[in-house]
Amino acid sequence: MFGSVLIANRGEIACRVIRTARRMGLRSIAVFSDADAGAAHVALADHAIRIGPPAAAESYLAIERIIAAARRTGAEAIHPGYGFLSENADFAEACAAAGIIFVGPPAAAIRAMGSKSAAKALMERAGVPLVPGYHGADQDPAMLARAAAAIGYPVLIKASAGGGGKGMRVVRAPADFAAGLDLAKGEARAAFGDDRVLVEKYLTRPRHIEIQVFADRHGNVVSLHERDCSIQRRHQKIIEEAPAPLIDETMRAAMGRAACDAARAIGYEGAGTVEFIAEDGAFHFMEMNTRLQVEHPVTEMITGIDLVEWQFRVAAGEALPLSQERIARRGHAVEVRLYAEDPARDFAPSTGTLARLRLPAESRHVRIESGVREGDAVSVHYDPMIAKLVTWDEDRDGALRQMAQALAACEIDGVQTNLGLLRRIVTHPDFRAASFDTGFIARHEASLLPAREAAPLAVLAAASQCWLAAQPHVPDPADPWSPWATRTAWRLNGARHQDVAFAEDGTTHHLRLHLQDAGRFRLESGGRAVAVSIATGAEGAQLVELEGEVTRLRAAWQGERIVVFTDGVRHALVPVDPHEATGEAEGADSRVRSVMPGKVVELAVAAGDSVKAGDLLAVIEAMKVQFRITAPRDGTIAAIDCAVGDLVEDGAELMAFADDHD
Ligand code: ADP
Ligand code: ADP
Ligand code: MG
Repeated sequence: MFGSVLIANRGEIACRVIRTARRMGLRSIAVFSDADAGAAHVALADHAIRIGPPAAAESYLAIERIIAAARRTGAEAIHPGYGFLSENADFAEACAAAGIIFVGPPAAAIRAMGSKSAAKALMERAGVPLVPGYHGADQDPAMLARAAAAIGYPVLIKASAGGGGKGMRVVRAPADFAAGLDLAKGEARAAFGDDRVLVEKYLTRPRHIEIQVFADRHGNVVSLHERDCSIQRRHQKIIEEAPAPLIDETMRAAMGRAACDAARAIGYEGAGTVEFIAEDGAFHFMEMNTRLQVEHPVTEMITGIDLVEWQFRVAAGEALPLSQERIARRGHAVEVRLYAEDPARDFAPSTGTLARLRLPAESRHVRIESGVREGDAVSVHYDPMIAKLVTWDEDRDGALRQMAQALAACEIDGVQTNLGLLRRIVTHPDFRAASFDTGFIARHEASLLPAREAAPLAVLAAASQCWLAAQPHVPDPADPWSPWATRTAWRLNGARHQDVAFAEDGTTHHLRLHLQDAGRFRLESGGRAVAVSIATGAEGAQLVELEGEVTRLRAAWQGERIVVFTDGVRHALVPVDPHEATGEAEGADSRVRSVMPGKVVELAVAAGDSVKAGDLLAVIEAMKVQFRITAPRDGTIAAIDCAVGDLVEDGAELMAFADDHD
């Protein structure tokens, strides 16, 4: 075994790899860009080397800089993590040329699977079942359109070089093919610098089931069973589990064999994943990812195997530690990817500082993989994943119960997150009953992405207490240290009650508080009056009692806002003058704003154009994903306030509607 490893990655996966390296007695070396000088992975490693500016192309993707860092620190091996250079055959070769062990498959195996088109051709020859489609070299648009017609609509256009759900477009009718092709190619060019595509039959109710394989250089190839990753948004996984519900032993064995055949066909070594799409009991090869997968922890939880340890052993030339029969499958594991993104705005990435970040405690049932800490920034430069939460139990129901509780314990402020969405999915009756496919989120959008709920009374009560505690402090002679001493101020003012208003997402809550005692007041809101009593619970939580019901929550000032967390839900309340007229800013509706920071890559309208609600106005690109900005209503565009190529902030005004009063 080698004695040191450089991790050519960042975030949670860098931290994950470092932990196993440490357990195995390997010296760990991190690399970082200027944006990550204070990042968790840098703090965790034994050594860390700066490799360049924030842009990934000049740091985490810069092969020479990473090799130079390895040379400088005497690293004997390089683990690429996932993403970045993990599936880059040139990088694997550069490592070999520098005499450094690449913890991954041989460059030739990476190349064989690097293009989805070429991989499909190869698998066809190896007898692995494929999704019907065209994966040839001819890229003439008219020819691709004819291929699509021959396959039969709907079809899926995919970037051959694709990954992460990027460069993929579903086309439902021939008339939309040309536009879909342009979008897919545009995204593919931006993300992979390669705009070749393939066209496939688009299956309408499939499941994504993949097999984790492992191979060594002594001819052993095993399957570490399957994962179901069907819960996806924008074709990217957000919830994964192992084993896959509702597959029987026959199908499991057949898929395992097909995956091992695929690995053998390309002389594979190390960890790899063969992805299949399954529908009506049949399964078809989609692609092989020649690296460690984001969702590998669910496999670790049911097999008890540390996949990173196996990667190190195989890379060092050892044989696989276990034969196929000895690979266990115990219980059920679920992983969710907690992202800084806004599900209500088409999952646009959300950037900002993690003003608060509390994740559940780890236990036998709960595992947390995160690469950020409270106070860290989620920037535009990298993937906006905050953490992966993984739960395990003896059966699926137990693992999902554990997950619902784990999600309820999360407190995140400073960025938008998909926490509420994840929570609603894992508690959804259809998901609980294992009745789902890759269209689950889209189909249940109405119930999974409900409009934000207005703060319930218990939340308003906790916010009121925070607000009261911040009022000018006049000591109560009876209890000079009590924050409730403010009541003295009220008495001095001759007031029996205090009016307060909290603004929340366009609504204003008007409250009247009648103070009684320390921690007790009456709260009037919307014609209701209730007695409130607040006590301190474990870990500084507030226990708010309203009419005999106690709610556990946590409320604190964050700048000008009072943020209240309860049961995995966050409410941000801004105290406003209760006597000021309410009502939203005038004319807000006439402006079209960017839903995220990014680059304007297309303007579909010009000043003077009239548009219908839903028409495409502009395309914004961020983190290599393109977002369509559509018209919120019918009207005429009065002015355009941006140009193609502009970098815009979240909320920046892109264009304005004419004030055509209706
Ligand atoms: P997987 O197939 O392992 O689930 P995804 O579908 O999430 O991975 O992502 C596909 C591509 O995006 C891969 O190349 C993956 O390595 C990359 N990727 C995903 N998440 C991250 C991340 N947090 N940092 C860097 N790259 C990522
Ligand atoms: P990536 O490299 O981005 O992971 P994949 O080819 O693995 O691309 O596909 C990503 C996801 O897109 C799949 O998990 C699946 O949900 C969906 N998908 C891919 N191919 C098809 C298809 N032919 N029909 C329906 N959905 C598909
Ligand atoms: Mg894939």
